[in-house]
Amino acid sequence: SRLVSGLTKTRDNIVSGIDAVFGGFSQIDEDFYEEIEEILIMGDIGVSATENILESLKQKVKENHIKKPDECKELLIESIKEQMQVGETAYRFEEEKSVVLIVGVNGVGKTTSVGKLAGKLKAQGKKVVLAAADTFRAAAGEQLKEWANRAGVDMIGGQEGSDPAAVIYDAVAAAKARNADVLLCDTAGRLHNKKNLMEELRKINRILEKEYPDAYRETLVVLDATTGQNALAQAKQFAEVTDLTGIILTKMDGTAKGGIAVAIQSELQIPVKYIGVGETIDDLQKFDPEEFVNALFD
Ligand code: GDP
Repeated sequence: SRLVSGLTKTRDNIVSGIDAVFGGFSQIDEDFYEEIEEILIMGDIGVSATENILESLKQKVKENHIKKPDECKELLIESIKEQMQVGETAYRFEEEKSVVLIVGVNGVGKTTSVGKLAGKLKAQGKKVVLAAADTFRAAAGEQLKEWANRAGVDMIGGQEGSDPAAVIYDAVAAAKARNADVLLCDTAGRLHNKKNLMEELRKINRILEKEYPDAYRETLVVLDATTGQNALAQAKQFAEVTDLTGIILTKMDGTAKGGIAVAIQSELQIPVKYIGVGETIDDLQKFDPEEFVNALFD
């Protein structure tokens, strides 16, 4: 599958090493666990998630009276899956009238992801309106307009430098007038100015509460998987300024740092809802942790 082929480098990065450890050790001892730990951390799974995985693995080895390293693999896979559990991942915005705010810093693939998501929802027969509320970045509106055309959906924008909240206000009016199922909002991601970002998102949320109270609200943060631990740090910073309901992890095609999906879900307890696996409109997939870990160890 696409997921499996896209994960080739991540798989090489993590699983080849793990297999070597399983094959190279004749007994389960501290050295064995240390080798596994190192591989997981090098594979971007993150220190804290790795510690939890190791703890769980040791427990399982004990409970199951496992003596041979090569009998641990299934237990390790189970332990990684446990770390990715964040409850049922809901896609409520697909079920009812909703507003989806998309946040994320420049370059992570935010505009592309908004476009892909618009295409996906449109293909489900939904009426979608896009709001180009990233008025801060030159050409962001034009770039989104191209995606709107590609997806065949309407877009509401504003002048460069205009108030993002005003764009949202207009977009809500348009969504109501057109009886839209989903209003998808591209917002500016100025993480270097956290106070501004927080205020801007607060203002946008206030408008949505007041003008569109019956619409279900989601906030998805877009993160670039190729940046590894940086992606995790960004997610934490966004989580500090607003309530995140999910993550879109982009550029999972061809990165060796796909292990970051484990770190993110484990540390933030926020579900990765979609992964980006390429640059075209069809390259957005729903993320299933179980399937992901299985693909890694395939
Ligand atoms: P923004 O600044 O966050 O809005 O980022 P863009 O949407 O403009 O994307 C930045 C670059 O990343 C573009 O060249 C996109 O084609 C590329 N990109 C976005 N998502 C993906 C993905 O899932 N896979 C790959 N390979 N490239 C992507």
